[in-house]
Amino acid sequence: MSPTPRTATLFHDVRPFGGPAGDLIAVDGVLVDELPEGVAVERVDGGGRLALPTLVDAHIHPDKTSWGEPWYRRRAAAGIADHVAGDVELARSLPTPVGERALRLMSHAAALGTRAMRAHADVAPAYGLAGIEGIAEAAAKLAGIVDVELVAFPQHGVVRAPGTAELLAEAAASGLVSHVGGIDPTGFDADGGREGDQLGLVFALAEKHGLGLDIHLHDRGEPGLAVIRDIAARTRAAGLRGKVTVAHAFAVAGLAGRELDGTAELLAESGVALTTVALGETTVLPFRRLAERGVTVGLGSDGVRDSWSPYGDADMLHRAWLAGWALDARLDEELEACFGVAADGGAALMGLPAADLRPGSPADFMLVEGECVPQVVVDLPRRDLVVRAGRVVARDGRLVRSGPLEAR
Ligand SMILES: [Zn+2]
Repeated sequence: MSPTPRTATLFHDVRPFGGPAGDLIAVDGVLVDELPEGVAVERVDGGGRLALPTLVDAHIHPDKTSWGEPWYRRRAAAGIADHVAGDVELARSLPTPVGERALRLMSHAAALGTRAMRAHADVAPAYGLAGIEGIAEAAAKLAGIVDVELVAFPQHGVVRAPGTAELLAEAAASGLVSHVGGIDPTGFDADGGREGDQLGLVFALAEKHGLGLDIHLHDRGEPGLAVIRDIAARTRAAGLRGKVTVAHAFAVAGLAGRELDGTAELLAESGVALTTVALGETTVLPFRRLAERGVTVGLGSDGVRDSWSPYGDADMLHRAWLAGWALDARLDEELEACFGVAADGGAALMGLPAADLRPGSPADFMLVEGECVPQVVVDLPRRDLVVRAGRVVARDGRLVRSGPLEAR
């Protein structure tokens, strides 16, 4: 049996992070210092473009999206329960099956330079496991282009929505999900007034099936912080360090000074990560300070053109722009940190190697016209070329679908 022939691609005249022009050489999906002898080399001219790591969407809901569908007229909503009702109404009204809608959105994200995503799929009696199956189907079609982690997310509550616990157990055993989700265990999911222990249930499922946890937490102030302390304690007790994420964590966004540092210390010690979606000034997490104190923080799109919101476009570079806008980032290091949370924060969250364009790192990058990273975050240039594992997977914002990719 002959060994698999090695493939090499030389990307000529590119400027990693806006530095001096040079070559990036990818061999078998990894960047190397120099071309090995005796390999066939494909050559791609970068035309002096910036090379930047491709990005990670740490929190997205592809099952909820109406991206590419007829415009949806949203009704007023006063809280999570109203939004949940809107989700069901929208899902029933859309002509396209969930798997196709998810694929459309995820393909769009990949073509704009998303190399990996953690996708939440609603699990509720209203849908069964259709969301999980649809996103899993889309992820399979995008294998080798975008890595997908899937969260079984009880958006309607576990205590509030009888039948959800059984569906979560089915999802956890399905082999399709990497994480079990959760939502406001003492806020939204306690509003039904029924006895129940959402956190106990989802931690038990994660332990039983060797899965991670990713829990939505919208509650602010002390009620939210109490849940974070509870999640941290359960994470340590269950030995799930590094496998638990709290999404949004608006309670942490409201902290400053010693209180923020104390919470950061607790999260870092317990191995609990956070994700933020940069909705606005009062909800975006202070990710630089958290990261400095050892907390893993990823950035995500959240819902994209769903019943909750007409906004969002699954473009993680635009999401970095939004984070900068929300935090009033002016200084170059602040704008670079916005890019960094989208590139490295999400990669750390998903346990992926950093795509830092150094030899030995994955050949995952995008080429854009521009000057330097802060300027790119502000100007949002077109993604001229997206490279995954050394292979060109998208050009000019569209996936390259077939065949060996032609060199320029
Ligand atoms: Zn979410």
